[in-house]
Amino acid sequence: MRLLQRLRGELSCQDVLEVLQSHLDGEVDARTARRVAAHLDKCNPCHHEAAVYEEIKAGLARRRRPVDSEILDQLGAFGLRLTEESD
Ligand SMILES: [Zn+2]
Repeated sequence: MRLLQRLRGELSCQDVLEVLQSHLDGEVDARTARRVAAHLDKCNPCHHEAAVYEEIKAGLARRRRPVDSEILDQLGAFGLRLTEESD
């Protein structure tokens, strides 16, 4: 089945999932985008997966806020420790 898909230039679910995020971000080339879209069209699980990604992206965009300052502080402290240790 998988080999047959390859021969016909179709993507497997695995292939699609690997590029799905890039695809939704518009970061894949036109040919890949077409093949992914064709797959999503007829593959329910992948279609669902794509919908979930879209949902997450939309949620993040809605809740866009400055990066959590606490996390930044922790990162800063971590970076500082690294520089101190390398001295
Ligand atoms: Zn699929």
